[in-house]
Amino acid sequence: MRVVVLAGGLGGSRLARGLAETIDPTELTIVGNVGDDVEILGLHVSPDLDTILYTLTGRLDETKGWGRAGESWNALESVAELGGESWFRLGDLDLGVHLVRTEALRRDEPLSAVTARIARAFGFEPALLPATDERVRTWLATPAGELPFQEWFVARRHRDEVEGVRFEGADDARPAPGLLESLETADLIAIAPSNPFVSIGPILAVAGIREALEARSVPAVAVSPLIAGKAVRGPAARMLARLGGGTGPQQVTDCYKDLIDALVIDEADADEETAIRTIVTRTLMDDADGRRRVAEAVLESAAALR
Ligand code: GDP
Ligand code: CA
Repeated sequence: MRVVVLAGGLGGSRLARGLAETIDPTELTIVGNVGDDVEILGLHVSPDLDTILYTLTGRLDETKGWGRAGESWNALESVAELGGESWFRLGDLDLGVHLVRTEALRRDEPLSAVTARIARAFGFEPALLPATDERVRTWLATPAGELPFQEWFVARRHRDEVEGVRFEGADDARPAPGLLESLETADLIAIAPSNPFVSIGPILAVAGIREALEARSVPAVAVSPLIAGKAVRGPAARMLARLGGGTGPQQVTDCYKDLIDALVIDEADADEETAIRTIVTRTLMDDADGRRRVAEAVLESAAALR
């Protein structure tokens, strides 16, 4: 069973982990968002790829939902003491990954290649592909002006209302090597319960990826990131209300028009009217049982669709 899952950070990595724990992990390909990538202190940070690497290898700080378990902050304290850039929280263990990645990129090693190297070193079994090796950056239109993703998300704590999103560089970016092939040979394509606008949106915006999904001949299933109309974490509900006109399963479905055949939703949303086929389960994945339940719902719905 070859599965490709499109994933952002927290929601993305939770479903990816559930799938990796349910099927043969070497048959899983995870396509990660790079629209959140940011240069901090001269280092290339890929927050969503790292959340996936950390989550699937038991390295994530589960309480925070980002960064490394058992982290220390010596380097950042030193940076702050010197008046350096310290608004973006980079711990010591995390910094090691950014150092290795940045050094590789500076030698012109592609992001996909250094990501694969880090994954191997961590004992990470699925394939993890950035959506593209090229530079794509998410920008948010807000009443305070257009903001780069991390300035809006971290520095301003996503308090600004989002009126629109733009993915700089996506039109000219090519999918990472092997990505289109993995979509073509997949038995199932899954869209994780990630933020549709700022986590899945920048993946679909890379030239060729949306078209490949539209042309698929195998089932495609998304998992809703909302439970009872609320996000488990982050701004997805607010963005869906503002940009999609509501916070129900129909609005999630509308984000993936022509791209999915079914939507996995939570029991709390089972009564909502939805034009697409829905699969109802408990969709919170804060433990191994939850991850497996949702992964199995995705896999079973795909079997029923085939
Ligand atoms: P980020 O890059 O870390 O912001 O991550 P994502 O975009 O991948 O994930 C954020 C979304 O994941 C939010 O909209 C959450 O509601 C959703 N999410 C997080 N954990 C879960 C979960 O256990 N179940 C479901 N259904 N959604 C989740
Ligand atoms: Ca993210």
